[in-house]
Amino acid sequence: MTPSPVHGILQNASMVDFPGKLAAVFFLAGCNFRCGFCHNAALMGRAGAAGLPWGDVERTCRKFRDNWVDGAVVTGGEPTLNPAVFHVVEKLREWGFSIKLDTNGSRPQVLEKLLPLVDYVAMDVKFAPADYPGRAGFGDIDALTESIRLIRERAAGYEFRTTVIEAWHDAAGMRAIGEWVRGAKLHVLQAFVPRDELPDPACRGMAETRAEILHAYADLLRPCVGRVEIRGEF
Ligand code: SF4
Repeated sequence: MTPSPVHGILQNASMVDFPGKLAAVFFLAGCNFRCGFCHNAALMGRAGAAGLPWGDVERTCRKFRDNWVDGAVVTGGEPTLNPAVFHVVEKLREWGFSIKLDTNGSRPQVLEKLLPLVDYVAMDVKFAPADYPGRAGFGDIDALTESIRLIRERAAGYEFRTTVIEAWHDAAGMRAIGEWVRGAKLHVLQAFVPRDELPDPACRGMAETRAEILHAYADLLRPCVGRVEIRGEF
């Protein structure tokens, strides 16, 4: 059977990944960032490998649809790196799903073409611009700025989101993030949660983000955006 670019499908539908939808989550391999705190690091180096057979993907999708799953999240890695992301989106639409795209914002030329095809986009705004090269291994800040603009102006639904790492984020950085996304409808803050399998050993021992830090940073973002949401158990 023909391999798809889908390298994994979350076994159970998610109630938290696509606002307002019960969603199946599809993982595409490969990423052009090198975040030491990546929760999907196993996908980072598998860009060229064959994915699941299309037949398996379709069977899984039909099962989800039969169980009231109405959303599909296309995530990674970084989905915009794979030209076949367009085919994935087309098939998911054909099978009846509303579609959300997760992106790191590094490929605005691809994002621009995907925006009319998806219902919701979540872009990670991980750090203030100056901290990207050191913390995420990516330095094309103009590309990120262009993605922020495209999403703000053209996405049907969207959110920008930041996973707050206490050791790496501070008030000045959060203010810089606020300025970067100024005028956005929604910015989501979520807690960093350490795990043993994170790629950077230094991140494995970092503390889980405290609720009071998330609330303090939310206050800093509020003057810049329409709404700030703290996601998780806070
Ligand atoms: S952009 Fe996302 S998938 Fe890529 S390395 Fe960073 S956290 Fe992992």
